[in-house]
Amino acid sequence: MFKDIPVDVGVIYEGERIRRNDMQIELGGPTVKQKFELAKVKPMDQIDDGKITIIGPDIKDMKEGGAYPLGILVEAAGSKLDQGLEGVIERRIHGYLNYIEGFMHLNQRYDIWIRLGKKSFQKGLNSFEPIGKVLYRLFKSELPIIEKVQITFITDTAKLDEMYPEAIQAYESRDAKARGLKDEDVDTFYGCALCQSFAPSHVCVITPQRYSNCGAISWFDGKASASIDPKGPVFAIPRGQMINAEKGEFSGVNEAAKKRSMGEVQQVWLYTAFDHPHTSCGCFEAVTFYIPEVDGLAVVHRSFKGPTVNGLPFSTIADSAAGGRQIDGFHGMSIEYMRSKKFFAADGGWNRIVWVPKEVKERVKDFIPPELVDKVATEEDAKTVDELKAFLKAKNHPVVARWAAEEAPAAPEAQAVQVTEEAAGTMMPVATAGTLPIMAGGFRIILKDAKIYANKVIIQIVKDDKDKR
Ligand code: SF4
Repeated sequence: MFKDIPVDVGVIYEGERIRRNDMQIELGGPTVKQKFELAKVKPMDQIDDGKITIIGPDIKDMKEGGAYPLGILVEAAGSKLDQGLEGVIERRIHGYLNYIEGFMHLNQRYDIWIRLGKKSFQKGLNSFEPIGKVLYRLFKSELPIIEKVQITFITDTAKLDEMYPEAIQAYESRDAKARGLKDEDVDTFYGCALCQSFAPSHVCVITPQRYSNCGAISWFDGKASASIDPKGPVFAIPRGQMINAEKGEFSGVNEAAKKRSMGEVQQVWLYTAFDHPHTSCGCFEAVTFYIPEVDGLAVVHRSFKGPTVNGLPFSTIADSAAGGRQIDGFHGMSIEYMRSKKFFAADGGWNRIVWVPKEVKERVKDFIPPELVDKVATEEDAKTVDELKAFLKAKNHPVVARWAAEEAPAAPEAQAVQVTEEAAGTMMPVATAGTLPIMAGGFRIILKDAKIYANKVIIQIVKDDKDKR
C-alpha cells in the first residue's frame, strides 16, 4: 500500500494474531505497567503536520522477546475538530495499527497490548518512524476532518511516568462528561463493529448508560464518530420499540444485531448477564461471571493476576465469553458500565454483585450503593467459593435472601397424578435444576434451567487413589 513502508499495509491484516514464539517484541501488555494511548485535539498552530517523534529507545534498540513500556500520543488539529472527538480519534489507533502486516494491537487506553512479529521486523519494520507514517497517512485519508496531525511514541520511563497521570485524567474527564444522560432520553443508540476482525458476530451496542465493551467509546463518541465517518465502523442504531424495559430489549437493537452478525445474534438484552446477554468481543476491560454456588455475579478485570474466587484466572474466564458469542452468565464489559444505573439492572444490579477485585472496587466505589460497599467481597475477603459463601453470610449480602428462597421446600402439589414414562409417551427428566454446575478437565460448565433425561442412572461412590491403596 505504501512503497516506503517495509511491510504491507491493508485491511487483510486486521485480526492477525502474533503468538509469543513469533514475536520480535511486545509493547505494553500484561507484564508492563507503563502503557497508554491518547489523542488530543490542539489549535492548528501547535501541530507540526506529519511530525513523528520518538522519545526513548526505538524498536531496533529493544531485545528480541522483550516486553517494553509504550505511550502513543496522537495530536490533531482541524477547523471542525473539537475535544469531543478525541475519543473517536484515539479508538482509530487500534484499527489503523492492525492494518500493518505483522503488527498486532489489542485493547485500549491504559491497557494497550502490542506485538511486532519477527518476520515483519526482519523485513525492516524496526522503528516507530514507519509505524507513525502509517498512522499519519491513515488518519489523514480516513478522517478528512483532521487537517494536521503529529504522532509521538514514548518509551522513556521517566517521560511515561510524567505523562501517565495526564492520560488517566483525560479518560476520566471524558467518561464523566458522558454520565447523566439516560437511555430513555434518546431515540438513537450507536453500534460498533470494529472488533469483528477478531470476533465476527460481535456488535457493540453503545447507549448513554452502556459504554462500549472496551471502555473507549461513550454514546457521545459514537454519535460523533457516526457523524464524521458515516461509512466507518461506528453506526447509528434507531432504538425502535421498547420490547422489555427491565431486560433492556429494543426492536432496533435486535434488528441491528441480526443484520451485523449475519443472523448469528437474534436478540440482545442490554441490562442482564443471562439468557440473551450482550455479545463479548475480546478487548473488553472486564468480564462478569456467574457463581452458581452463591447465585451471584463476580467481576474480574484484565490486569488481575492469579486465580479469581472460582479458581479460574481472567484469561480462562475471558476465553469462555469472548469471540462475539452470547454466553449465559458471562458478560464482557467496560469498567464504566459498573458506574451506570443500568448495570445489570435486570439481575438486581449491585445487589447481585458478590466479588470484585480490590483495584476495581476502589475505582467504582462511589457508584456502589453505600449500604453494599462492605458487602461486596474482594480477593482480600475471599479466595475460594467457600470463603465467599461465609463472607456473604456474615455480611448478610442481599444474595443470601435468595439462597433462603431457593432452599425453601416446595409446597406439595394437591392430588398429584402419577404419570409413568410409558403413559406419558416420553421420558421424564431425572434431574432438573435452575443451574447445574459440572466440573470437568479444569473447567466449570454451567447448565442453566437444565432438564437431563437418561435411560439409566448409575450412582457410584468415587474413591480416590489413596483409598484404593
Ligand atoms: S469493544 Fe466495541 S466499541 Fe470497542 S472497538 Fe470493539 S466493537 Fe468497537
